[in-house]
Amino acid sequence: MFCPFCQAQDTKVIDSRLVGDGSQIRRRRECEVCHARFTTFETADLALPRIVKSDGERQPFNGVKLKGGMLRALEKRPLSAEEVDGVFGSILTEIRQLGEREIASRQLGEIVMRNLKRVDQVAYVRFASVYRDFQDIQEFAEEISSLSKEKSKRNKKKK
Ligand SMILES: [Zn+2]
Repeated sequence: MFCPFCQAQDTKVIDSRLVGDGSQIRRRRECEVCHARFTTFETADLALPRIVKSDGERQPFNGVKLKGGMLRALEKRPLSAEEVDGVFGSILTEIRQLGEREIASRQLGEIVMRNLKRVDQVAYVRFASVYRDFQDIQEFAEEISSLSKEKSKRNKKKK
């Protein structure tokens, strides 16, 4: 990186260490021209992307709202609060790993559904019914029957 004092292009790292909980790296650099020393901090860019709705409207990512929707889908399901937090955490990680500044709300919905499906199929169908905005009861029924087919396939394999 450029020297902030003389704008020389070559600066070298003379020390590098993790700071805090290890989420940041502190680097001491020295300019090879004017020999000024300065410090830089490097942090992973973990900001959550903005959500682009189907009508094109952009909204900031709203984790509270998302978790609320998940909790409604998981109502009376046999998942502990810790398990719910675990699923929520993996959803956030997956979204961050996309590294996008904006994602479509549909893509967000798919990620949530995929993660719910992994832990609880009833919650998945409940969430999907709201999120995908099923056109009619037929479509909803098809989704449920495709789930029960998957289940019976798995049961057969066990035998
Ligand atoms: Zn310099």
